[in-house]
Formats: sequence, C-alpha cells, structure tokens
Amino acid sequence: MKLPVYLDYAATTPVDPRVADAMARCLTMDGMFANPASRSHIYGWQAEEQVELARRQVAELLRADPREVVWTSGATESNNLALKGVFEALNFQGHLITTAVEHKAVIDPAKWLEARGVAVTYLMPGTDGRISVEQVQAALRPDTRLVSVMHINNETGVVNPVAEVGALCRAANVLMHVDAAQSAGKIALDVSALQVDLLSLSAHKFYGPKGVGALYVRRAIAQQVKPQIHGGGHERGLRSGTLATHQLVGIGEAARLCVEQQQVDAERTARLRDQLWQGISTLPAIARNGSTEWLSPIHLNVNFGALDGETLLLSLRDIAVSSGSACTSASMEPSYVLKAMGLSDAQAHSSVRISLGRFTTAEDVQRAVAHIVDVVGALQPVHG
Ligand SMILES: *Cc1c(COP(=O)(O)O)cnc(C)c1O
Repeated sequence: MKLPVYLDYAATTPVDPRVADAMARCLTMDGMFANPASRSHIYGWQAEEQVELARRQVAELLRADPREVVWTSGATESNNLALKGVFEALNFQGHLITTAVEHKAVIDPAKWLEARGVAVTYLMPGTDGRISVEQVQAALRPDTRLVSVMHINNETGVVNPVAEVGALCRAANVLMHVDAAQSAGKIALDVSALQVDLLSLSAHKFYGPKGVGALYVRRAIAQQVKPQIHGGGHERGLRSGTLATHQLVGIGEAARLCVEQQQVDAERTARLRDQLWQGISTLPAIARNGSTEWLSPIHLNVNFGALDGETLLLSLRDIAVSSGSACTSASMEPSYVLKAMGLSDAQAHSSVRISLGRFTTAEDVQRAVAHIVDVVGALQPVHG
C-alpha cells in the first residue's frame, strides 16, 4: 500500500532526523541519562549542561534571555500556566481578554477561570479570521489584567497583529500572553519587539518531539505568575518535576535548526502551498478560508463549496489532511473557528486544512493536486 502524502504539519510535524539523533544520545547507558538536578556528580552536571544548552537554543529562537524560558510538557501546559498562573496570583479577580478562535488549550482554561469569577471577553474575528488591535483596545477595561491572543491560528494560518496588541498592552500596563505554538520555528519571533510578557510554544510543531514545550516568562513579571505544578521547585519555582533531558535536547536542537533554516523553510513551503492552491483553484465553487495577506507560510484552508465534508475527507485517501473540525465521538462538529468567521455549518463542514512543512516535496504537491482534482470532480454536490 502506498501511504498518503502527509499534509497535516499544523497538527504535528515529523521529528527532524538530526533532532532524533541528538535525543537518542540521551537514551543510552553511556549517554546523558542522569538527573539534571543531581548536583553531586559528573553525570548530573553533564545532563544539566545539555538542558542549559537547550535553554539557550530556545531562548535564541525567541530572542529571549535563557532565564526567561520555563520548560513545560507542551503548549497546552504553557497556556494553562500562563492564564491560571496570572489569575491565581490575583485571587481570580479581574478581566481577561481573549479570542473566540483560540486553540482549546486557551479557551478551556479561560472557561475554567470564568467559573471561578474572572470576567472574560472573547473577541470575534473578522470574516478574514483576523483579530484587530482596535477590537482589543475597545475591550480594555480598568480591571483588565491579561490579554491572550494567538499568533498564528492553527486551523486557518491567519496571523494576528500581536506586536501591535503587545504595544497596546504594555502602554496600558496589562499583561500580554501569546500562544505561539503555530508560529515558533515558522516565522521570526522576537519577544522584545512583540512586547509580550508570556509566550507558549511546543516542540512537536517545529520538528521536535511531542510532550515538551516552553513558556517564555518575561523576567520583570515572573513574580506575577503562580506555579500550577508544585514539587521540588525546579524552573525557578514555576514548574516542578525532573527535567526530561532527552526531550529538552530535542526541543533545543529543533530550535537551533529553525534559527538556521526557518526562513528558507518558509519561502519553500509558501511557494509549494501556492502551487498546490493554483492546481486546485479551478475546481467549481472552491474558495480559500481566511486572509491570504496575513497568512502563515504553511497553511491552506479550503472550502470545497457544495460538497459534504465527511464524504470529502473519507474520499481524499491519498492525502493525510485534517477537517479543521474537531471529531467528537461519532458526530463531526463543524469548526468553531470557521463558524466564528461567519461560515455556515455546511461551509465549515466542507472545509479542509492542508498544511505543509520542511519535508514536503514538489512531487507531494503534484500528487495531492491530481488526487484532489480527481476526487472532487467525481463527488456530487449535496447542497447549494
Ligand atoms: C498544537 C497547539 C497547541 C497544543 O500544543 P501541545 O504541545 O500539543 O499541547 C496549543 N495551541 C496551538 C495554537 C496549537 O497549534
């Protein structure tokens, strides 16, 4: 059986072989197996050295100070630490501004805070999927304590004006958090230029392993975040637990590679993405979802018009893509992101997210185009 072309990089990326090699060296008896917190012997010192190298590598990706990098298990945990950590320090008082198109790893902690007394505003995007700085400005209240706006939306790839929102928040003396899981390693990031206080990232979105990520915590505000996992006081007290050396070596090497080649990767994938769109754009009733001006280099979200989404996804057997809909139990829920942008249930259902990455080839794109044209041409429209 020929495997489908992998075009679901926004869900997770393959681990770069160079990252896998670096990690494997930590998993052998003669490798870096020790506890990086062991201060009494050379095994521990060497492991700690590897962890601190990784911290510098991730800090470089963000142009942050290494002391501002807090290791976590991924962006879900980073987002939880940022939102809950800030509001726990405030005894769950005050106002949070976020958006209706955040990943569930922000939406669900926001709801959890809401249930404990925090006032939450969920900003709606424009029809292009973008949040504007004017909207954030208009939503600011005297008791607003935190603004959380994602950098790149995971479903549409739309890029939000986080630097402008950061400047606004800094001027208003309000903390700013950014879920950068989709942007870290894909586009240039500079936490000082963005003027953010907290920023989440996840290794498995930029060719590192799953189960490891980081929260950037600006030094000047570290006291304003309460830890959510208590234990040995690791990570400056912000996140306890023995550090997973092999995972951190993985995220470090992945970050190093992105610093080196993210610009080349971005230009390549954007070109391939545009070729893919060119190849399928003549299909009847096909349209793109979201801004094409403010767009990540890897995403393409396509609405196939009058076709049933479930049938479509089941028929597209030679490409591995995602529906942009969360598959909950037996029923397919239409994407809340696309619905927030004004798409109908039917339109959201007939939309597909195609995402490319470092290992996508021109042949992959040719095969995908031919397959989509084939399949969509054969399907009958179910609604007008
Ligand atoms: C993938 C993703 C997450 C969750 O990251 P994990 O490391 O899988 O927990 C959060 N936010 C966005 C925008 C994502 O794309």
